[in-house]
Amino acid sequence: MGDDEESFAESSMAAIRNGESPHEGLFLIITYLPLIDLLSTRAVCRSLRDAVNHDVLPWLQLSVTPPLSSRLSDNILFQLCAKARGRLTTLALINCTKITDSAIQIVSENNPFITKMYLPGCTSLTIDGIIRSVKTLTENSHTLTSLKINGIYNIDKHHLQMLNTFLHHHHHNQPSLRFYQQFKNSSVINNDDDDPIDVSICPKCDEVRIVFDCSRNDCKCRGCEICIPRCVECSGCFESDEYEEEETACNHVICSSCWLLLLPKCSFCNKPYCNLNDCRRLLHLPNFICDNCCARFVTTTAVTEE
Ligand SMILES: [Zn+2]
Ligand SMILES: [Zn+2]
Ligand SMILES: [Zn+2]
Ligand SMILES: [Zn+2]
Ligand SMILES: [Zn+2]
Repeated sequence: MGDDEESFAESSMAAIRNGESPHEGLFLIITYLPLIDLLSTRAVCRSLRDAVNHDVLPWLQLSVTPPLSSRLSDNILFQLCAKARGRLTTLALINCTKITDSAIQIVSENNPFITKMYLPGCTSLTIDGIIRSVKTLTENSHTLTSLKINGIYNIDKHHLQMLNTFLHHHHHNQPSLRFYQQFKNSSVINNDDDDPIDVSICPKCDEVRIVFDCSRNDCKCRGCEICIPRCVECSGCFESDEYEEEETACNHVICSSCWLLLLPKCSFCNKPYCNLNDCRRLLHLPNFICDNCCARFVTTTAVTEE
């Protein structure tokens, strides 16, 4: 939510606590709320709770992200999906480690209009279970078009081939370019590339993984992040001697030319923070001491003072 919406929501909540009925704009906002806010909205007052519970619209795109993910059980998933009354279009479960094959199968059978199924890091799922759900969602002209399964164990070429067949994806389609920085910086949900499946076969190790392209001029290298380490700033590889690997204060690896450009640097270790969203919010004052150095400094003084 933007600042305006937030202050609007806050003043509306205050009015409700004073016994006024909620502003009708609040009912419009609930359609766009992330799940965690949607669930807490229900606690505000009865009319909002009724609106959230009985309105189908806020529930058509279900996306469960951390910190809710680790708590999502099959039963809670069924309750959340039931609110869409069979009209779910997006099922995005990010790192939901408790969800089982039979749960996504039941959800797939009850929601034939799912077009996006994102299951990265749902490590209790098996690839056979996912294939079964994908089959359900693609047969009888059902329209699953996008699947994300990065982090699911034991996917082999044969599985990938089956999934591509179900999704009518043929190899003559040129895969879209995928850059490391972009991937690291966007959430799975916002990262809508054109490829129907996020993983493919790494040309270097032959494993089914996310494959990245190189941003360097004239370098055509492609490979998973294990085969070809890349700079989180520019998505370039370190294949040429021109670029050394440098570490940032946030423990990401960057290339020497990005290291020169990143300012300011920690007064102690001379490492900068990188520009990824999660790292950029760490302090960027002209003279700063990074978290690592702070922690080291605090423990050493504590030890010497004893
Ligand atoms: Zn590889
Ligand atoms: Zn770089
Ligand atoms: Zn390269
Ligand atoms: Zn430092
Ligand atoms: Zn970083």
